[in-house]
Amino acid sequence: MPGNAITTQQPSPGSDLVAPDTTGLNFFRADASLTDLLQLHLPEELWRHIEPHLDRLGGLAGDHLDHCARLADRHGPVLHQRDRFGRDEQWIQYHPAYRELERAAFGEFGIHAMSHRRGILGWPETYPAVAKHAFTYLFNQAEFGLGCPINVTDGAALLLSRYGDAALKAKYLDGLTQTDMAKLTQGAQFMTEKEGGSDVGKLTTTAVPEGGHWRLHGEKWFCSNADASVVMLLARPEGAAPGTRGLGLFLMPRRLDDGSPNRYRIVRLKDKLGTRSMASGEIKFEGALAYAVGRLDRGFVQMAEMVNWSRLSNGVKSTALMRRALHDALTVARGRKVFGRRIIDLPLARRQLLKIMLPVEQALSLCFTTADALDRAEIGGSQEAAALLRILTPTLKYRATRDARKVCGDALEMRGGVGYIEEFATARLLRDAHLGSIWEGTGNIVALDALARAVGRHGAEAALAADLHARLNESPALPPAYRDRLRALVDRAVAFARTVAADAGREADARRATSALYHVASAVTLAWEAVRVHERRGDARRLVLSRLVLDHRLSPRDPLAGEAGPAQDRAAGLLLDEAPVPMAAAAAVALN
Ligand SMILES: Cc1cc2nc3c(=O)[nH]c(=O)nc-3n(C[C@H](O)[C@H](O)[C@H](O)COP(=O)(O)OP(=O)(O)OC[C@H]3O[C@@H](n4cnc5c(N)ncnc54)[C@H](O)[C@@H]3O)c2cc1C
Repeated sequence: MPGNAITTQQPSPGSDLVAPDTTGLNFFRADASLTDLLQLHLPEELWRHIEPHLDRLGGLAGDHLDHCARLADRHGPVLHQRDRFGRDEQWIQYHPAYRELERAAFGEFGIHAMSHRRGILGWPETYPAVAKHAFTYLFNQAEFGLGCPINVTDGAALLLSRYGDAALKAKYLDGLTQTDMAKLTQGAQFMTEKEGGSDVGKLTTTAVPEGGHWRLHGEKWFCSNADASVVMLLARPEGAAPGTRGLGLFLMPRRLDDGSPNRYRIVRLKDKLGTRSMASGEIKFEGALAYAVGRLDRGFVQMAEMVNWSRLSNGVKSTALMRRALHDALTVARGRKVFGRRIIDLPLARRQLLKIMLPVEQALSLCFTTADALDRAEIGGSQEAAALLRILTPTLKYRATRDARKVCGDALEMRGGVGYIEEFATARLLRDAHLGSIWEGTGNIVALDALARAVGRHGAEAALAADLHARLNESPALPPAYRDRLRALVDRAVAFARTVAADAGREADARRATSALYHVASAVTLAWEAVRVHERRGDARRLVLSRLVLDHRLSPRDPLAGEAGPAQDRAAGLLLDEAPVPMAAAAAVALN
């Protein structure tokens, strides 16, 4: 790579004693599912255009960027209060490896700008979300910390382009969507205060009008990308109503027009479990200058668009962590021998690998289904797709971020003791994975969003049911008995969600109902994809995974029942049995 500040380590094949890691693996080439799903969702011309770029990013993510991510994680940002001449000028120092990650994400691939600026990577239009998130997914397999700044820069550009007035756009939009690193101005999104992360309506930062702008007073408690140049934030205009209805949306620049720092201070940086490469701070406003964005009484509603945008990105990033963990687990299982046999040949390990793989493939399917709904809603103007997006976004964010915790933990264990040691990526993946289910809404908050709002208030589950039934109708190649079983499960999951949403006394079932929607949606989508991938290249593995979702994520299991039954290795045979599929048979199909 030209202009590298970081020297890339040579791929390490491991030794006879310790299994290799994924160094040198191309994460794009090693992921047939990604190619399959992109071919299903993207127009041929766009797919052909991005394929070589994804190939390049996949190679970098499996090697150079991964090396940078390891360094950036070990050498986190440092907040300085003064410059070397003793002037009070706050600045954050980043390791060169973090700068190199920024250069790749923002400068070379322009992931943050793909939805906004034409011409990124030579494509004459802006990119649909499906294509953009293919890049998000590959990049985050190497580096999850910077995933946040990429996403919030993207989200800030979205809000500004939708709601900013002409003068604000002229001033700030170009910088937010730049791929020239000298001109790039990164974004951020500050909402959370000590009083309220989930309960945003309680926040106390106030905005006082002054001429054509505002002055901010108060504090923010969690501010990722703390030194960003363009911050989107919520504050309450003086005298406005309490609760979320009184909140306005503001743009706060880091520097004023004359180049001097705006009046706010990063009080300290958080000492975090994960995303240690990226700076999250606490910020105190001391009359900071800010501009109102859009209608003052619609601040929260407008910010919610950025939050939903981010929740999809969160789902994709957690899927990336899971895929990376699976790559690692498979590399270990193929590369290490125990008791004279490769781990991957041992029945119990094969079962475990399959259980690591299943949530990864479920999540990948629903990431691209959700991104596709976003494209059809926002580019195509489809109302049905908008309703589908409304329910899929929190459902994906809820389940995929939770699954990532377990998948990354189980993959760590597959590496044995060294999986727990920070020299390997598995420890970092596990630490990072625990964040996905907290930011942009904790598990409870997004489950309530899916159930109480998307189902209860908007009736969006009808769009999901219609979409899933349509997918089954469009897949006559599926065995009829299996299609019927899926149809019945769709109806049951939707009915359960409606029951929970309709009865305030059943709020405690919101998580179960959201999980059920997720699993049913993924089982149908995997089957729908399988039919198409099978037609294209004769591979029906996704059908086996669809069936495993029913057995392992939607059906009660008798802990005392064994897995009797002959080992079968044909996908069709696996689908038709009423009894749970023997894992050994499923592994024979899915792990090969
Ligand atoms: C590393 C990191 C970076 C972050 N970066 C940012 C950032 O850049 N910008 C930003 O604005 N925020 C950021 N956050 C904040 C994050 O979004 C909040 O921490 C999160 O939304 C939870 O809010 P809270 O911390 O106030 O917890 P609380 O809201 O107090 O939640 C505490 C517990 O109560 C539960 N709970 C809350 N309401 C309900 C309910 N109605 N029913 C059932 N249970 C409920 C929650 O699920 C949780 O388990 C970041 C957080 C972290 C950890």
